[in-house]
Amino acid sequence: MANIIKTLKGTKDILPQDVNMWQFVEQKAQKIFSSYGFKEIRTPIIEITELFSRGVGDTTDIVNKEMYTFEKSDRSITLRPENTAGVVRSYIENGMSRLSAPVKLWYKGPMFRYERPQAGRQRQFHQVGVEMFGLKQPTADAEVILMAVNFLKSLGLNDLDVEINSLGCPNCRSEFKEKLKKAIKPYLKDLCEDCQNRFEKNPLRLLDCKVEDCQKIFAKPEIQDVLTSDFLCEECSEHYTELKLYLDRMGVKYTENKLLVRGLDYYTRTVFEIKSNNLGSQNAVCGGGRYDGLVSQLGGDETPAIGFAMGMERLISLIEKKEPKKLDCYIVSNFPADTFILAEELRSFGFNVEFDLANKKFAKQLEKASKVAKYAVILGEDEILKHEVSIKNLETGTQITVRREDLPKNIKQ
Ligand code: ATP
Ligand code: MG
Repeated sequence: MANIIKTLKGTKDILPQDVNMWQFVEQKAQKIFSSYGFKEIRTPIIEITELFSRGVGDTTDIVNKEMYTFEKSDRSITLRPENTAGVVRSYIENGMSRLSAPVKLWYKGPMFRYERPQAGRQRQFHQVGVEMFGLKQPTADAEVILMAVNFLKSLGLNDLDVEINSLGCPNCRSEFKEKLKKAIKPYLKDLCEDCQNRFEKNPLRLLDCKVEDCQKIFAKPEIQDVLTSDFLCEECSEHYTELKLYLDRMGVKYTENKLLVRGLDYYTRTVFEIKSNNLGSQNAVCGGGRYDGLVSQLGGDETPAIGFAMGMERLISLIEKKEPKKLDCYIVSNFPADTFILAEELRSFGFNVEFDLANKKFAKQLEKASKVAKYAVILGEDEILKHEVSIKNLETGTQITVRREDLPKNIKQ
């Protein structure tokens, strides 16, 4: 075992004993999102690097530090760090703007970010997310947030905190940005290098900085005054108020957090995060918001849009562990040829069936059956001669003998 090859740092196998949890989350996603009319989309894991530098924004950590980028035939290619940019590319490339709005899409799959691995943070991780295109009305924001909450509820997660904020539109935000810059400027030299670099291009992003000393500076009263001031223009303010009315009406509990800015450049107006107190410092399970400028920024027509992404590893760590499903039947027999035929017959009825391909002793097979299956189906010499089978319910211990053609109706899936 000296020379075994291991997984790369920050990546994990999802093993058979855990995969049922993943399937559970994926099936719920499919079910809940479909119930709101969302359709699944699957975009490539590799994309042209420019999609992310233009789409996610080149002042973000994701683009600056976290991308897996490589050259192939003179093209710069990147493993997707998130899927909004890819879905937007596909929306434009496939002319989905011709479809009647809203276009509602959902996705699931692996994302790649070169981050420092720690609890709740991997380099290959998985997201499930949705995007809705074509509606500027706050009803769209409300439906997307409501659906996120209902999806989490369907997983048994009820005690999560929903935080919302409005970042305004480019118009009202520019004045706000100037005020913020003015308040931060005197402390510029005390901020971390990243913050200093971003100060001119993207001052809002500073607020998302994870460095404690920077956060201390942003807590200063004159900066807080700017942050908590009401800078939204009339339209943005109305949009935000209406969203809150819909959420109230639907009984979605939320708190307003004026410091919530989210890490990506593309957000406008509504942003939201859903957090759990049971996750330690990586506590966000869901991040989302409106990105009315992104489609046109990537070359499409002006198209309002809103979406969210959830970290699947974090979701799964919060859900109560479920035992993997047992086989329906394990056939116990020392007549392999007959067993093959019976197993295929049962499988054709939709049952999950195994038998001992090594044809071990009867008692060993029965022992195995009790571990892996709900029913032992016993096919001994007697049974074969009489065209019967015995069924042992391994949960209750009761055993019955039935005509072979009556077998399927005597076992429950
Ligand atoms: P964080 O502040 O935790 O870095 P983020 O703002 O980078 O989050 P998003 O890009 O909004 O995260 O992604 C949405 C969700 O994906 C997050 O809320 C989180 O649950 C999950 N996520 C993001 N990065 C990772 C990662 N490296 N490993 C595992 N899950 C992640
Ligand atoms: Mg991050």
